[in-house]
Amino acid sequence: MNKKSEIICSFCKKLKQKVKFLAVKNENAICNFCINLCKNIINKKLYNKKKEFTTKLLKPFELKKYLDSYVVGQEQAKKILCIAVHNHYKRILNIRTSNIRLEKSNILLLGPTGSGKTLLVKTLAKVLNVPFIIVDATSLTEAGYVGEDIESIVSNLINIANNDIKKAERGIIYIDEIDKITRKNKNVSITRDVSGEGVQQALLKLIEGTICNVLPIGEKKHTEHNFIKINTSQILFICGGTFNGLEKIILDRLRKNFLGFKNYYELKKKNIDNFNVFSYIQSEDLLKFGFIPEFIGRLPAIAFLENLSENILISILTKPKNALVKQYQQLLYMDGVILKVTGEALNLIAKKAFLQKIGARGLRNILENILLNVMYEIPERKDIIAVVINKDSVLENVLPKIFFK
Ligand code: ADP
Repeated sequence: MNKKSEIICSFCKKLKQKVKFLAVKNENAICNFCINLCKNIINKKLYNKKKEFTTKLLKPFELKKYLDSYVVGQEQAKKILCIAVHNHYKRILNIRTSNIRLEKSNILLLGPTGSGKTLLVKTLAKVLNVPFIIVDATSLTEAGYVGEDIESIVSNLINIANNDIKKAERGIIYIDEIDKITRKNKNVSITRDVSGEGVQQALLKLIEGTICNVLPIGEKKHTEHNFIKINTSQILFICGGTFNGLEKIILDRLRKNFLGFKNYYELKKKNIDNFNVFSYIQSEDLLKFGFIPEFIGRLPAIAFLENLSENILISILTKPKNALVKQYQQLLYMDGVILKVTGEALNLIAKKAFLQKIGARGLRNILENILLNVMYEIPERKDIIAVVINKDSVLENVLPKIFFK
């Protein structure tokens, strides 16, 4: 405390009003920022608990193998993503060892809702052991407008990295709904930049790499000296979206350029089962979609995800390491109850989810509804030993079969 008995942090001397939290005991006080700092020092120096950024450069093959145990299908997207991620971290290693500058290459992920975009990126961040955050592009605004400004993305990453700047500088930022900040959105308001182009411009620098001055989370604005410097040139930015309407743009171009590319469906019938129009994407299509050329230039690696078929949806229910059915089995197991889902029921759940057209997102909803009453009862009851979801539970909305002790 100072002489005018204003309460200040005994370490950084910031006033109580300037910090989010200040713990006070007798004559001493410590603010949230210094607490975090101490926590890091203790972890690092005393216990050496903090997991270091993996120095081993994982090969695309190794990355894909890891992804395969969590994400079903999406083979092409996995390969493109693994190569791009491998090259990104190779580039970071190269900075330390060579004079040849490898250009930064961020990634664009296209694909329908619920097809696994977020899951892919999240799983990659996990295997790489790097900090990871998800940002919604529609919440971002240019500096000076109402909304979340671009620098706040980096503040969030630093926060996730426990204020460890070096660690944050190797993190991954997934910007979802990137297709919603295109130029064609003419709905401009004075207070909130929703035109998209401004946000693209603002994101440009961050994505290509810049030194950012950011405020740590919880710090009040305009206290100049507590800004942190962070270099974003090693942060991997992955931008994802569903890109409704882009398919038509690509097809129109293909139709113009090639005789025979009459329409998508004809091509699909004639050609290959796994034909994906996004595989023909070119920069000019993204330009037409509403991205500014500089922005497209910063996202040279493009991966596209497929619509999930019924068969893939069935696999998603049971195969991945933390498959949905396994999750519900675990929940019930904790109350001493065995959960079984018959093969027929699995097929029907997948069919139902497929018709909802929200990819694998529908699966959880359907299972949750089927098990709602059972999950309400089970913790209260000691006489239930097993629950079986059969076709009637999916088709007729009847309760799953319950077996008693
Ligand atoms: P998107 O980001 O493409 O909209 P998500 O990755 O958020 O979709 O998927 C939603 C949920 O659906 C995930 O949490 C996961 O449980 C499941 N899911 C989606 N796609 C897959 C997949 N290919 N393999 C396994 N699970 C998937």
